[in-house]
Amino acid sequence: MANLFDSLLGDVDPSSTFAVVETDGAAWTYGSIIAESGRFANVLNDLDVQPGDRVVAQVPKSLDSIALYLACLRLGAIFVPLNTAYTLHEVDYFISDSAAVLFVCDPACLSRYASVMQKNKVGLETLGAEKDGTLIKKAAQVSEYFASADRQTHDIVAILYTSGTTGRSKGAMLTHANLLSNASTLVKLWRFSDRDVLFHALPIFHTHGLFVATNVVMLSASSMIYVPKFTVDAAIEFLPQCTTMMGVPTYYTRLLNDRRLDAECVRNMRLFVSGSAPLLKETLLRFEQRTGHRILERYGMTETNMIASNPYDGERKAGTVGCPLPDVDVRIRDAHTGLEVSTGDVGILEVKGPNVFCGYWNNPVKTAEEFRQDGYFMTGDLACKDNEGYIEIVGRSKDVIVSGGLNVYPKEIETLLNSVEGVQESAVIGVPHPDFGEAVVGLLVVSRAIFCSDALSVEIQGKLAGYKRPKKLLMIPELPRNSMGKVLKVQLREQYHDLFTNS
Ligand code: AMP
Repeated sequence: MANLFDSLLGDVDPSSTFAVVETDGAAWTYGSIIAESGRFANVLNDLDVQPGDRVVAQVPKSLDSIALYLACLRLGAIFVPLNTAYTLHEVDYFISDSAAVLFVCDPACLSRYASVMQKNKVGLETLGAEKDGTLIKKAAQVSEYFASADRQTHDIVAILYTSGTTGRSKGAMLTHANLLSNASTLVKLWRFSDRDVLFHALPIFHTHGLFVATNVVMLSASSMIYVPKFTVDAAIEFLPQCTTMMGVPTYYTRLLNDRRLDAECVRNMRLFVSGSAPLLKETLLRFEQRTGHRILERYGMTETNMIASNPYDGERKAGTVGCPLPDVDVRIRDAHTGLEVSTGDVGILEVKGPNVFCGYWNNPVKTAEEFRQDGYFMTGDLACKDNEGYIEIVGRSKDVIVSGGLNVYPKEIETLLNSVEGVQESAVIGVPHPDFGEAVVGLLVVSRAIFCSDALSVEIQGKLAGYKRPKKLLMIPELPRNSMGKVLKVQLREQYHDLFTNS
């Protein structure tokens, strides 16, 4: 059974609940999502979409958009979800790079995209969040029965474009085997079963919301409360009915800022998972104090699916992403010598396993650059391991600051800054400096009522070697983040680029 659709949903009881939609309270059974995906598959087939063709979707989050994903699986087409924030110019690039045959967008965006699709000779259909759009109309005219296309395990099932913070986005090609192996591992590791109800508030154009959250739910026949966008109000309202939640760290900090979050609100929960960006130790500890639950932090990326996770039963170590998943090989190598580093030392994390993508679409040069000869993929993340094998992610290698010829790892300084009373969060970046090459700059978000800059100076003087100390500390109202909660350091470096060179 190589087609991921059959592996995920082949044995499911059609009468069991798949999801309840927050906005209209509609309950979908597994039977109804399978039927809708069958109708969409027939519509795509009528539009002459062939196995291996790229279907690009920039659609609002709805269960119909999940049905579209499943329809592509059934047909053997390659699903290419796009961030709903992408502009016309960006979409134009994704359409031509992927050589798409069909683009599906929100009905409200139809006029914006019509001429670009015409220019690229790409079919254009619409799918809205409220049972609207051309695909819905066409689906009403066709059968729900559709026989899944035969697929090989190594066939490409989806292309996910990386966020492209350091250049043009690259399309990561993921296979049926990649997605199935990772979902199976996570179901076992995190003990998902048909008794679970997941609070699903993540976007579904990203690996976290689509492949981790949704595939895990389907493979375990559990159900979800499906929320278009994370809000604290929705979480407080629905968590009492849920057993699990997956989120990015900002969801947890925002929940902690609301007094309604307490042990009673999460009385039926058994698991909170965090990932896609670093979870501060302080968030983990405060969340545990308030709710009695220790958040399970995991680590992964678009190209590799999930790589490591803290254990379900064993110790969930704060500040770490746990150990490599059972079927995944991880090694940490020195960026310059290429040799494996000793326990506790920082190097580039490399990964090999059934979860790792098969290359960048249309970009053999980049693919060759990022894989080692022996098949390990170089993640570009700096990490170290402790003596029990727990991994700490220290940051992206591109964010390392070289000041006066010495390497400075931002996370070490951020951790120290965050530990000072009144500092809510911080970002440490390097900017050009006439003497040092790069200078360390700390950007702080503080709560003014309790923040005291003297305490900060004492902490920095006593604990950081001179070359690591920020040459400037600036207070800013908030850190810029993308939709997955990652701090946009490229943007910060651009913003503060002239801090030393123009003065
Ligand atoms: P993406 O491809 O958008 O999923 O981003 C993947 C990147 O997010 C990784 O390469 C890491 O830099 C970062 N990331 C994901 N999970 C974590 C985590 N738990 N802690 C720290 N960084 C993370």
